[in-house]
Amino acid sequence: MSAESAFPPIDHDHGRCVDLLMSAVERLRAEQTLRLTPQRRRVLEMVAASHVALGAYDILARLGGGNGRPMAPISVYRALDFLLQHGLVHRVESLNAFIACTRPGARHDALLMICSVCRRVAELQSPAIEAAIAASAAAGHFLVTHPVVEIAGICRVCRAADR
Ligand SMILES: [Zn+2]
Ligand SMILES: [Zn+2]
Ligand SMILES: [Zn+2]
Repeated sequence: MSAESAFPPIDHDHGRCVDLLMSAVERLRAEQTLRLTPQRRRVLEMVAASHVALGAYDILARLGGGNGRPMAPISVYRALDFLLQHGLVHRVESLNAFIACTRPGARHDALLMICSVCRRVAELQSPAIEAAIAASAAAGHFLVTHPVVEIAGICRVCRAADR
């Protein structure tokens, strides 16, 4: 993915993003013992529905509006924990919200560009940034347990709307 395409255009075919994620999920289920219960799948589908970061309570509110049974807050938190552990979603620490991973199944640092206007989040793929973090950590004998890089800014769509 090139740097320019990190933020997908508003009118892109988002079905393809979802298909990509779901085919990765099916692959993980076949390879490992990924137990995607119906509740976990509903939460994942909710998070994956757009590139806008959703908080746990946004997810709860949207789940309640569907035809399925409402979920308890604790079940949503547990489902999110499960999805985090399996690398299917990222927590956007600065927003206390979640987005679907665009490279599920591959170990990588969370390198996120976050639009502070529309809350859309783009995941960067940058081996150079990951290598720099690893090298700096190694030089300082620092054990990295939770590598997260969050870059706040304003996306192209929101900048255009502001003009
Ligand atoms: Zn998309
Ligand atoms: Zn990711
Ligand atoms: Zn924006």
